[in-house]
Amino acid sequence: MHVHFAGTRGSAPVTRSDCSGFGGDTTCLLVTGNEGEQIVIDCGSGLTNVSTRLEAGLDLMILLTHYHLDHLIGLIAFPLLHTPEAQLLFAAPPADGVTPSEALGGIFRNPYWPVDLERCGAEISFADLPSGSGTEPMLFRGIELRWTPLPHPGGCTAYRLDEPATGSSMVLATDAEWEGAPDHMRQEFVRFCREPSPCDLLICDGQYDDTTAGSRRGWGHSSWSEAVSLAGETGCRRLLLTHHDPADDDAVLTERELRLKDVLPTAALARQGLELDLARKDPS
Ligand SMILES: [Zn+2]
Ligand SMILES: [Zn+2]
Repeated sequence: MHVHFAGTRGSAPVTRSDCSGFGGDTTCLLVTGNEGEQIVIDCGSGLTNVSTRLEAGLDLMILLTHYHLDHLIGLIAFPLLHTPEAQLLFAAPPADGVTPSEALGGIFRNPYWPVDLERCGAEISFADLPSGSGTEPMLFRGIELRWTPLPHPGGCTAYRLDEPATGSSMVLATDAEWEGAPDHMRQEFVRFCREPSPCDLLICDGQYDDTTAGSRRGWGHSSWSEAVSLAGETGCRRLLLTHHDPADDDAVLTERELRLKDVLPTAALARQGLELDLARKDPS
């Protein structure tokens, strides 16, 4: 699997030049499989950065972690929505009982947007994933998809992608407040990261430093040190932190990354534009 970080900012896009190093676009990942599978996770403003890479003639699965606007805002300018040969499958479990069809239908309508989904032109379909942790993986050609709930206001979902042909795996767990989360949810998340094998890449919410996290309890995000503590339980091979706060410029994030690496040398902060090839030579 190949992972492209198209947006790593949290909460709201920023365009200031002092944020260009880590990037100002909100959450979007493009995962490309060994057989050409295209999976987009979240449609923040970063979606714009990968829209020209997506092939309209191929199936595209779009996974949504939840429906907060920083994770959907890129859809309104997504050219494939208006490409007749494009086949787009949006998939997510319900968040607070709201399905992906209901959530997107609620945005693509007056007074929020002038063009509703029925008039967009692409072939759009929806998959309502079962709530809770998927015990059996859903297959998207050569990629296995699993998911589990995260502690976040209104709900959020972590996704795990495994590619058995290459033995590679990744977990995206953005928008999660682990401090004070129920023990059963933390234990289930750790199991999710460890099975069927410890994931190669764990991408976690680490929006705040400890001081800011303490003053924003209930906002739904974690500090970088809370993310490191959690990652230590999962056995992941590599940790990247994401959903950087809009108030934190490159200088703040660079200093934070130095402190992070003091604690965990294999960890880093995700940068917009980062591309990783997760394929391993020792598939198992
Ligand atoms: Zn968010
Ligand atoms: Zn959120």
